Amino acid sequence: MKSSDLDVLIVGAGAAGMMCAIEAGKRGRRVRVIDHARAPGEKIRISGGGRCNFTNLGTSGANFLSENPRFALSALKRFTQHDFLKMVERHGIAWHEKTHEGGGLGQLFCDDSAKQIIRMLTDEMKAAGATLSLGLGVKAIARDGQRFTVDLDDGTRISTASLVVATGGKSIPKMGATGWGYDVARQFDLRVTETRPALVPLTFEPGLLEQLKPLAGVAVDAIVRTAPNSASSSPKGDRPQFKEAMLFTHRGLSGPSILQISSYWREGEAITVDMAPGEDVAARLLAAKTENGKQAVHTALGHIIPRGPGRQAGRGRRQEAASHGRDGQRLDRQAGRVRGLSHGRGDPGRGRHRRPGPADDGGQVGPRPLLHRRGRRRHRLAGRL
Ligand SMILES: Cc1cc2nc3c(=O)[nH]c(=O)nc-3n(C[C@H](O)[C@H](O)[C@H](O)COP(=O)(O)OP(=O)(O)OC[C@H]3O[C@@H](n4cnc5c(N)ncnc54)[C@H](O)[C@@H]3O)c2cc1C
Repeated sequence: MKSSDLDVLIVGAGAAGMMCAIEAGKRGRRVRVIDHARAPGEKIRISGGGRCNFTNLGTSGANFLSENPRFALSALKRFTQHDFLKMVERHGIAWHEKTHEGGGLGQLFCDDSAKQIIRMLTDEMKAAGATLSLGLGVKAIARDGQRFTVDLDDGTRISTASLVVATGGKSIPKMGATGWGYDVARQFDLRVTETRPALVPLTFEPGLLEQLKPLAGVAVDAIVRTAPNSASSSPKGDRPQFKEAMLFTHRGLSGPSILQISSYWREGEAITVDMAPGEDVAARLLAAKTENGKQAVHTALGHIIPRGPGRQAGRGRRQEAASHGRDGQRLDRQAGRVRGLSHGRGDPGRGRHRRPGPADDGGQVGPRPLLHRRGRRRHRLAGRL
């Protein structure tokens, strides 16, 4: 059997594996990265709707969900978002900050393509002296004193001082994702925390799905929160909330605000959706009634929230129609982008990774929101799900 010696063998040429290779190579280590996929950084390629949201100006430890809240701190201290941005600029990659209602959100995207980020990382790896082998997996690993012996699919044996498992989470198996990293952890008796879907779309239960299906494709601005006293409430009762776009899909809800809240949602809990942020819907309806008593409720609501959901709510059927901001738009292109994001990427157990929801190619079961059964008075109908 052909064998070779290394300082660092990294399994997985995703974002984590490549960054690790760059840093280890810069320290003079002999580094090799292997990946069973045919191309490196496949998830980066589809990230940010193909433009890769490569960093966030406001990144801090508070943005990472983990059983250990300090998990990300030392890494973030030693390599900041500004360091990454410098690397992007050094490679001449044009970028822009996403904005909302005229304000910067701090999320930085490539102007052109996420592929530029992959190229940047592979170029940096090369410059740091790390080698990359694709289409190559691991057959077996054994600990041999202070070193690891790793048998590869191609029949070679590698002896390495450090073995880095950077095989990512299980989402999107089509792109090479496996649970192999968890198996390796178990092999070496490392504790594996519970994994659960995060950054995924939500699906409606059958009855509500039928009622709200006509809204598929409508995008609105919304404030989405977990329910009071939910598992995600802080001891002071603060609840996570996100004010971003929300999208009605043919299965339920998606869009950035929904993907975000899905990481906090727990089975059996409700979420609330305010589709008219900053509006006193009851007062506006009362004023409309005073001005024009004959106006249908859905017509009046149509001035406050987009027409589709407004009609659903205003007809007074008993569904808790989802509401939304006034700028609801039917934008198929935007819907496509949001669906791209819906392949998500988080795992609160570990810091960041996720399993796909039902809209994902993996076809696994994602979270299902329970409904608020309280919204029968009209102003509530308009403001809550
Ligand atoms: C649709 C979508 C959009 C996203 N958008 C963004 C975004 O805009 N910004 C952002 O920061 N993040 C985004 N993410 C998340 C981001 O892509 C991931 O967090 C990140 O790519 C994970 O990197 P990783 O290296 O940990 O894992 P991965 O990228 O999953 O890499 C793991 C690698 O290991 C390989 N591998 C797996 N098992 C084996 C095995 N047994 N043997 C050999 N190789 C193996 C895989 O082929 C893969 O190349 C998005 C994710 C998705 C799915």
